[in-house]
Amino acid sequence: MSDLNAFRNETRDWLEANCPESMRTPMSQGDVVWGGRKVEFKDPDQKVWMDRMGEKGWTCPTWPKEYGGGGLNFEENKVLQEELMRIKARPALNSFGIWMLGPALLEYGTEEQKMEHIPKIVRGEIRWCQGYSEPGSGSDLASLKTKAEDQGEEYLINGQKVWTSYADECDMIFTLVRTGPLEPKHEGISFLLIDMDQEGVTTKPIKLISGKSPFCETFFDNATAPKENLVGGLNKGWSVAKRLLQFERNMIAGMGFGSAASGSSKKSDTKPTSGLATMAKRYVGEKEDKLNDSGLRNKIIDHDMNSQAFALTLRRAAEESKKSNQGPSAASSIFKYYGTEHNKLRYEIMLEAMGTKALGWDGAEFGPEELAITREWLRTKANSIEGGTSEVQLNVISKRVLELPQ
Ligand SMILES: Cc1cc2nc3c(=O)[nH]c(=O)nc-3n(C[C@H](O)[C@H](O)[C@H](O)COP(=O)(O)OP(=O)(O)OC[C@H]3O[C@@H](n4cnc5c(N)ncnc54)[C@H](O)[C@@H]3O)c2cc1C
Repeated sequence: MSDLNAFRNETRDWLEANCPESMRTPMSQGDVVWGGRKVEFKDPDQKVWMDRMGEKGWTCPTWPKEYGGGGLNFEENKVLQEELMRIKARPALNSFGIWMLGPALLEYGTEEQKMEHIPKIVRGEIRWCQGYSEPGSGSDLASLKTKAEDQGEEYLINGQKVWTSYADECDMIFTLVRTGPLEPKHEGISFLLIDMDQEGVTTKPIKLISGKSPFCETFFDNATAPKENLVGGLNKGWSVAKRLLQFERNMIAGMGFGSAASGSSKKSDTKPTSGLATMAKRYVGEKEDKLNDSGLRNKIIDHDMNSQAFALTLRRAAEESKKSNQGPSAASSIFKYYGTEHNKLRYEIMLEAMGTKALGWDGAEFGPEELAITREWLRTKANSIEGGTSEVQLNVISKRVLELPQ
């Protein structure tokens, strides 16, 4: 038996013995496990599953074993993902630590920083949020003003972040701060890790028209962070920030395509349960079911073909970058741009098929899937804003991928 077959058998046995039955059922939005000090499990099996996967390092299967990761190579990880899919296992843990901070720390962190933070990400002990955007500094991120002043042993931080997703539920924040006020704007930024459990940090949820508050304003009023929390060197934070954005963009690109790119989605949880054509058949138009409408049918065919091609491209790129151990590149902007625009189009087509059934926000005359699709249609619009807007991706593509003159 080949090593890989033996690994598959061991993995299958381990999953059979360790994945609780209730963690093999479909998830709703409220079932996502994010970990952290403030975590509340809806079901005790969620904790069992997170702890067991975390202990084995399989929440981050390819990260090095010395930092608590699974230490799997590319082929082994593929087997693990196949076996998880075979039993329809839920993701044991979702987190910005896994998708963004961890990969950047593995490249830029000191040995001490990796030993301190990576195992806690793997085991879901600390929940991280991202403190990049500020009022007035979104697309022009490098104009950020939150400052960190050297106070000897520690930094003193003052300023404000905005659109900080889930900040009120998080334990730590990875931030960009200005440490070189006199330097050119990109050269005066540092990447700093700040504990949110202190008086100087407050969060204020931003209430959306949906009634939900998925993101916050985050205020730093004489907050502090120890010197050892600076990642990548003083005034060298822009390189770390850009690299982290590549991981983030790659992850967002895969939304709407299952786990083709990198894993599960950042914030988008409700997926339609059927393909576009199957769905259109369920709705009645002028010529019986909506699939008889040739205009809609052509849109569906085009979209399905592009979905297939894009999913394969994502998979090829993911395999190439994992094999070469390079991780994502500036090309992640291409995937982010195409993936999010394509996913928006998918929801437009669904709405066209649903007709008036797509007009519901709540109410008994709409089914749960219809209500979910209408909300998700609105949410897809945010995918082409978060992690840098589509226009910003086009700028990155022309500068860094096509190397066009500025
Ligand atoms: C769902 C969601 C979650 C988010 N989560 C986080 C988070 O956790 N942490 C965090 O730090 N931030 C987060 N953000 C913020 C996000 O990164 C910013 O919204 C984004 O970078 C755009 O910045 P802005 O909103 O200030 O828009 P602006 O920068 O003001 O842009 C306004 C418009 O102008 C266009 N534009 C701006 N500059 C250019 C240019 N040079 N060329 C062409 N067009 C341009 C933009 O494309 C956009 O259409 C989140 C945003 C969303 C929607």
